[in-house]
Amino acid sequence: MAAEIIDGKAVAAKVRAGVARDVEAWVAAGNPRPGLATILVGDDPASAVYVANKRKACDEVGIADLHQHLPAQTAQAEVAQLIERLGADPIVSGILLQLPVPSHMRGTELTALIPPFKDVDGLTPVSAGLLAQGAPGLRPCTPAGVIELLDHHGVQIEGAEAVVVGRSDLVGKPVAQLLLQRNATVTLAHSRTRDLPGVCSRADILIAAVGVPRLIGADHVKPGAVVIDVGINRTDAGLVGDVDFDAVAGIASMITPVPGGVGPMTIAMLLRNTLTAAELQSR
Ligand code: NDP
Repeated sequence: MAAEIIDGKAVAAKVRAGVARDVEAWVAAGNPRPGLATILVGDDPASAVYVANKRKACDEVGIADLHQHLPAQTAQAEVAQLIERLGADPIVSGILLQLPVPSHMRGTELTALIPPFKDVDGLTPVSAGLLAQGAPGLRPCTPAGVIELLDHHGVQIEGAEAVVVGRSDLVGKPVAQLLLQRNATVTLAHSRTRDLPGVCSRADILIAAVGVPRLIGADHVKPGAVVIDVGINRTDAGLVGDVDFDAVAGIASMITPVPGGVGPMTIAMLLRNTLTAAELQSR
């Protein structure tokens, strides 16, 4: 039987509508409007598009757009000062440094300067530590979006065998930790994993976050598994995921397409995190 297609665009639209409602209720209760400071250093065209999309999404849900654009030749110390200033500014709920920064800068060091309660990307070492300990904090957007998709489709996480392929700090590790927190039995696979098809075939929930077009084929998927494809790969055939969709769609019970699966969830969860950050700061 053909798998149910998980429509990330529809789920993301619901999340955004929920955030818009919650922002208005938050403001109506007398709280300051949440604000997101995106920081773009330089003019990398892809980064400029990503930031423009985030700003537009803020606007649509009533989050104040506190964007900062700095020239490419800005010194590292100047960006650091800006982050520290925004960190101390009460009108700023969330800070997002768009990566990559120009090559003369050390992006990881700059990201680490974002106060944990304003870290709406959830990528600072403190946020990663809070996640690893299962303590409250802001979670990385794409991994949080994966969990939201599973929940929205009523996928049972507790007790499930979950296999995550890819162990990056951005996606693989945090998604594995979120699944663990929800009581899945989690395996984290990577480029040195022996017998990847065998390992993946154990999964009730299979998450691919690799960056290799169509790596996950029919021999990696247990019949009835839920397959979430985080991969976004630009090929001559257009955008494709890490999963061979056509080969897997007849075996899985549910599957995300690329595009239109996990991708739209990232900005939706960024908006949710910005409101959560405003709430954390008011405590
Ligand atoms: P990274 O390159 O940082 O990590 C890739 C991971 O995949 C590594 O852990 C690597 O293993 C593993 N890997 C590479 N090749 C293989 C292989 N042949 N078999 C098994 N594992 C392998 O990528 P990211 O985590 O940043 O991104 C992964 C994908 O997700 C990309 O396609 C990216 O574009 C996409 N993405 C999508 C987002 C969205 O939907 N909004 C957001 C972020 C990313 P090792 O550690 O051993 O090297």
